[in-house]
Amino acid sequence: MPFLELDVLNAPERTTLGIDLGTTYSLVALWRDGRPLVLRPKGRPDGRIPSVIHFPKSGAPLVGWPARDRAASDPGATLFSVKRFMGRGLADARTDLASVPFAASQTDNGVIQFAAQGRKWTPQELSALILTEVWRTASEALGEDAPRRAVITVPAYFDEAQRAATRDAARLANLEVARIVNEPTAASLAYGLEQRREGIVAVYDFGGGTFDVSILAIEGGIFRVLATAGDTHLGGDDLDRALVALALAEARPGAELEQDPAFLQGLRLSAERCKIELSTRPEAELHVAVPEKRFVWRRMITRAEFEQAIQPFLERTLQCCARARHDAGLAAREIDEVVLVGGSTRIPRVRAEVERLFGRTPHCELNPDEVVAMGAAVQGHVLGGGTRELLLLDVTPLALGLETMGGAVSKIVLRNAPIPCLVTETFTTYADDQTGIDFHVVQGERELARDCRTLGRFKLRGIPPLPAGMARVAVRFALDADGLLSVSAREQSTGAEASIEVQPMNGLTDAEVERMLKESYAHAREDFDQSRLANLRVELGTMLRAIEKNLPAARAGLDRETLGELEEAVRRAHAAEQAPDVAAVQVARDELERAALPLAAVLMDSVAKAALAGRKLSEV
Ligand code: ADP
Ligand code: MG
Repeated sequence: MPFLELDVLNAPERTTLGIDLGTTYSLVALWRDGRPLVLRPKGRPDGRIPSVIHFPKSGAPLVGWPARDRAASDPGATLFSVKRFMGRGLADARTDLASVPFAASQTDNGVIQFAAQGRKWTPQELSALILTEVWRTASEALGEDAPRRAVITVPAYFDEAQRAATRDAARLANLEVARIVNEPTAASLAYGLEQRREGIVAVYDFGGGTFDVSILAIEGGIFRVLATAGDTHLGGDDLDRALVALALAEARPGAELEQDPAFLQGLRLSAERCKIELSTRPEAELHVAVPEKRFVWRRMITRAEFEQAIQPFLERTLQCCARARHDAGLAAREIDEVVLVGGSTRIPRVRAEVERLFGRTPHCELNPDEVVAMGAAVQGHVLGGGTRELLLLDVTPLALGLETMGGAVSKIVLRNAPIPCLVTETFTTYADDQTGIDFHVVQGERELARDCRTLGRFKLRGIPPLPAGMARVAVRFALDADGLLSVSAREQSTGAEASIEVQPMNGLTDAEVERMLKESYAHAREDFDQSRLANLRVELGTMLRAIEKNLPAARAGLDRETLGELEEAVRRAHAAEQAPDVAAVQVARDELERAALPLAAVLMDSVAKAALAGRKLSEV
């Protein structure tokens, strides 16, 4: 039963932090009240901690926001991207070392060291500074000392040395590591995908400075990495630089400004702002001003322009995806779930390209730069002996679906589906030249719409007139963590769209949910027949109309005997259309199908002949 189990709620919980120790930002979350909660100190709604360290002339190093604030004024004393050096030696980190403002050397056992403030710092020690700041932030948000136990995430491609370095960093920060978890696994946990028990997940992580894609197999609720691919120097920063290049080409600020780090930094920040705005708006301003030099330049950038500028980078990410899928030995249709991670996946074009590549709507209901920390908190909760399957809020207690032609229900979100969730299905038109569809959103386990609870109705207009079955309407059910359901329908050729939002659990008590479930068990057999009957009738009706439309072609192309059989089958099908039992309708449908085969051949033939004669198919 999907109801609250009191002993679970009251079970003592060994609280464990979930920490996303990121290249550009780190984030911390904790399991609270049945869900992972990102910890944000008061007045800091985003909770992210820049993974940045600044070494002032004297005094303790600054970490996080204060360090980032110094980055522009004192770039020579500020260190970014420590994560790139974890567990690596001088030789294999050469290219990354070029961007570090400090002299690097190596310890006797091959660990990189940076010289700053008269001493040497290993990446482990620097990461420990970040983790200490993360713990402090968590404590500030909680208003008390945060737990010292933590699940920490690392990229799936991290090798043993890199993982060991991460553990060392945690130990130096006085944290007990409950487990090191792969970032894509954490993201999948945040979406509750382990509850599938079995399946294949692709996790597309496009962050600030890195891109990676992982293909995971879920087996008995456990994740296994099948393949990873990526580019450690491809990220949102590249997209910013594309806008900077566009601005420089048009603004022509002159050689002096183009060499000025403060000017370039200002332009880069403006480019990032513009990029972020374009994720929600059709156009945004790119603006840079140097008042001292009386230099001002501004211009509106359209989303189309931006998309064109970033396309080469998107192509590279898609190539990595194809490679990972290939390495895992899987076809596109074998990927069951796609998860988006990283701030750059907020860009609508990125989502669209990923959806197109995998042929599947990716999960993006959760904040893409928070999912990894949230998943780490889920893992921490489970390791601490907590369960999540039994928590009411995590699953849908009743199916959600649409009434289809004939009165049956097409269930879109199944009972017990983990929420938040997102499901997309494609529907089509029933009649020729049908330009609208009425949607009836229902909730319940019964098979006929009239036995379910009506949640809402809406209409989609503006479907182009097409033969029956040719229009493609993608219907999307998105159920968010608060239980709000948005249903939207979109015709794919014109983009015509309509949607509705409803609160499925409003006015529904536990007792009613239980009654609805019991009724569905009691009527299971009869419901099954009713729904099958409804669907068969629709199928029969569709076939009948298609055949009748082509009767002239049948009369011209079929011999008398075959034509007679077809006409007889049509007559019987009409008689059976309203028959009350499944078997009668089924027999009529099967007969009609058989009798129509020669007609199908004739039609194919005329299409083929027309093609050979060079005529367009639409003229046939
Ligand atoms: P990382 O995992 O590499 O530390 P994040 O996942 O936090 O990085 O992603 C940071 C990147 O996401 C930055 O390049 C930032 O500009 C970009 N970003 C954040 N929000 C948006 C948005 N709304 N639209 C486009 N890009 C965004
Ligand atoms: Mg990240």
